[in-house]
Amino acid sequence: FVVIEFKGVTKRYGRKVAVAEVTFSVRPGKVTGFLGPNGAGKSTSLRVLLGLDHATSGTALIDGKRYRDLRYPLRTVGALLDGAQPAPDRRGVDHLIWIARSNRIPRSRVGEVLDAVGLTDAAKQRVSKYSLGMRQRLGIAAALLGDPAVLILDEPVNGLDPDGIRWIRNFLRDYATQGRTVLLSSHLMTEMAGTADDVVVIANGRIVADGSLPEITRGH
Ligand code: ADP
Ligand code: ADP
Repeated sequence: FVVIEFKGVTKRYGRKVAVAEVTFSVRPGKVTGFLGPNGAGKSTSLRVLLGLDHATSGTALIDGKRYRDLRYPLRTVGALLDGAQPAPDRRGVDHLIWIARSNRIPRSRVGEVLDAVGLTDAAKQRVSKYSLGMRQRLGIAAALLGDPAVLILDEPVNGLDPDGIRWIRNFLRDYATQGRTVLLSSHLMTEMAGTADDVVVIANGRIVADGSLPEITRGH
C-alpha cells in the first residue's frame, strides 16, 4: 500500500508563485480529490510529484521516495496528465505496445488493460477515429500497464459526456477498493460527489481545506 506525501512544496516560475508550501498526504484504498479552480496549482503540484518539474523547495514523495528514485516507476505509478495525447495516426493497441516495450512491461498486459477500459473492439482503430472519451480511456489504459499501486489523473473528465464521466467514476471507485491509491484532480465540486472519499482543496497555490468529502462539503 503506497502513500503520497507533499511536504511543503513551493514552486515559482520566475516571480510567479504557482504553489506555496503545499502539504498533504493521500491514503491508499481511497479516492482522493484534488479540487481547485483553474490556475490554483493542481497541475504544477502533480508535475512536481511525477518528477516532471523541480520544486523550488519542499519535496513530494511516493512510497517515501521521489518519483525518479522509484525502481520501477510505471509499476508503482500510473498517470494521466492533462494534455498528454497519443499520436493520432497510431492504432490504439500500438500506442500501448510501444509504452509497454519502452518500460519493459510484458506484452500480455496490453490485452488486459484494453479489456479493463473497454477498448478491446476499438484497439485496431487509429486514435484519430477515437472519441474524446475513448482517448481518455486509452490514456487510462496506458497508465494501468504497469498494474500500478498509485493512479494519478489530472482533470480526466473534462469534455466527457455523462456516460464517460460515470465510467471513470465507477472505474476509480473499483480501483481504490482494491487498496490502491487514487488521486484525481478537478475544478468541479460536483465531480467529487460520489467519487472522492477525501478532498484536498487548493486555491491560489495554497491548501485551504483537507478532509473527508462530508467535512469539506459542510465547510463550503
Ligand atoms: P491548475 O492545474 O490548478 O489549473 P496550474 O498548476 O496549471 O493550475 O497553474 C498554477 C499557476 O502557475 C497559474 O497561475 C499558472 O499560470 C502558473 N504556471 C503554471 N505553469 C507555468 C509555467 N510553466 N510558467 C509560468 N507560470 C506557470
Ligand atoms: P521516454 O522517456 O522515451 O518518453 P518513457 O518510458 O518514459 O520513455 O515513456 C514512454 C511512454 O510511457 C510515454 O508515452 C509516456 O508518456 C508514458 N509513460 C511514462 N510513465 C508513465 C506513467 N507513469 N503513466 C502513464 N504513462 C506513462
